[in-house]
Amino acid sequence: MAVMREIRNIVILTGAGISAESGIDTFRGAGGLWENHRVEDVATPEAFARDPQLVLRFYDMRREAIQTRQPNAAHTALARLDAEWPGDLLIVTQNVDDLHERGGARRVLHMHGEHLKAWCTRCDSRHAWSDPLVDRPPCPKCGARSLRPDVVWFGEVPYHMDRIYRALREADLFVSIGTSGAVYPAAGFVQNARELGARTLELNLEPSQGSRLFHESRLGPASELVPAWVDELLAG
Ligand code: NAD
Repeated sequence: MAVMREIRNIVILTGAGISAESGIDTFRGAGGLWENHRVEDVATPEAFARDPQLVLRFYDMRREAIQTRQPNAAHTALARLDAEWPGDLLIVTQNVDDLHERGGARRVLHMHGEHLKAWCTRCDSRHAWSDPLVDRPPCPKCGARSLRPDVVWFGEVPYHMDRIYRALREADLFVSIGTSGAVYPAAGFVQNARELGARTLELNLEPSQGSRLFHESRLGPASELVPAWVDELLAG
């Protein structure tokens, strides 16, 4: 008989679905378009090289939009878990919005970067950024007009992978929230965690592509499922 391992270390992966009820579009809407653009036209290094103004305008619009959105009950429930959980906990988000932080969470890693940061490709400095980039403002550090959104585009290497894999190795519980399981390497985390003995749980509106890899799958809106799961976990 399998013995349930005591849960001490938790890794939580979040995706666009956790921010959907805050009014931020998920990635793959009907027709495969993201806010009326093909992904290849706005979220790849090739797109930026081909038409920087189009890409910068697209990200400027999204950067402006997220600043008008508010965290929902799922973000604040995870912040409560972060504050109260006595063991290790890491929220790995694929989201580039800042709703986890504004919801109050502290132990957050943005593996795909952040809308509210700009990266200077000339001097490799990063800066908090809430204004448009389309007019090519100078880098605050070196003055070059080489700032781009500090987001990871398709074909680029996600951030913090060493720390993430370290946390997955230590995890007793891996939870995936609001992600389609279509974008690697994040889509492979469930398998990594499971092979190393973690229990795995999915909270999503519909079964994700890797749904069968989870020990348990709960379907519904994140704003309901996440607070209920956090209550359950903190109640022991
Ligand atoms: P995705 O759009 O591929 O999948 C979203 C998933 O969330 C789907 O499985 C959907 O069923 C589920 N979902 C939708 N509404 C939900 C709700 N209310 N409650 C629970 N689940 C819900 O998103 P992804 O897997 O995160 O895709 C990856 C890429 O999209 C990432 O690279 C990320 O950087 C980018 N992205 C980020 C944001 C953001 O920062 N908020 C928004 C769009 C896209």
